[in-house]
Amino acid sequence: KKAKSTAERLLFYRPEINAQVAETLLLENKLRKAIDQDQFVLHYQPKIHAGKGGISGFEALIRWQDPESGLVPPGRFIPLLENTHMILEVGPWAIRKALTDAQNWCLPDGTRPRIAVNVSPIELQQRDFVKDVEHAMGDFAARGCELDLEITENLIMNDIDENMKKLAAIGEMGVKIAIDDFGTGYSSLEYLAKLPVHALKIDRSFIDTMTTNSHSMTIVSTIISLAHAIGLTVIAEGVEDEEQARFLRLLRCDELQGYLYSSPMPPNAVETFLRPERKTKRMHHAATASRI
Ligand code: C2E
Ligand code: MG
Ligand code: MG
Ligand code: MG
Repeated sequence: KKAKSTAERLLFYRPEINAQVAETLLLENKLRKAIDQDQFVLHYQPKIHAGKGGISGFEALIRWQDPESGLVPPGRFIPLLENTHMILEVGPWAIRKALTDAQNWCLPDGTRPRIAVNVSPIELQQRDFVKDVEHAMGDFAARGCELDLEITENLIMNDIDENMKKLAAIGEMGVKIAIDDFGTGYSSLEYLAKLPVHALKIDRSFIDTMTTNSHSMTIVSTIISLAHAIGLTVIAEGVEDEEQARFLRLLRCDELQGYLYSSPMPPNAVETFLRPERKTKRMHHAATASRI
């Protein structure tokens, strides 16, 4: 499991340390510190039932609260956490943190929201991945917390037989698995039907262009039909306007997620968001439009 540090890897073939390498090293040190000093936070974005309206769950999205530059988005540090294998510490932390944050969250109908956590390829590749998830869940399962994991497509299709076993074992623990960014990778249709996963998340790039590009619309429609045909639910990510939402409902997409409903928000804002008396125009809209 021991990973080479970025320094070791870079110095091996690049004797002169240039500015970019120095910057990477600096960031790596800062991230090490961020782990030790607990500087990561999770923000949460709701997923909405497309048909009946209302919240189905939340996706946890990590941010780094850098004391120097403020809130840093995951695209700027996840790759480095992966390269250095520090993600093997942050991944399990995220599962525990999400389940802790969500401990007292309750939907207006009294049920618990499902909480989705993103999993890095590096984590899934570990031999002990299943055990790690089990440990990270700890005794949360007993308290009725519902966990989902989101894993990107390409990764699952690499080393497919090994991954099928791991995903099936995780499914046994009551965890639901979604294939994230679906449509951008190279899933084999043969395997897709056999994979022990529960949902497909249509990549934002297709949602973004579906109302202006007929090919995107066709792809979205085809993914939804395909998913339903093999018994999977479908989530659309990056829904930004009512027109996209309307088409997605007509195409019988199961869940919608995007800025139209809410940006990712810190845990205390979720508590306000979940108050039963809160009725925003948009949620109301989602509920009425479902009767189309
Ligand atoms: P993702 O899992 O596909 O998450 C969706 C991204 O789209 C998030 O970006 C979210 O903030 C953004 N988004 C949501 N709705 C909209 C919308 O309507 N329009 C637009 N333009 N964007 C929208 P974010 O938070 O920057 O996360 C980026 C990626 O970082 C995630 O993509 C995920 O792959 C990764 N990530 C986030 N948190 C974690 C984590 O805890 N662990 C790991 N391994 N990866 C994570
Ligand atoms: Mg995701
Ligand atoms: Mg995604
Ligand atoms: Mg994405």
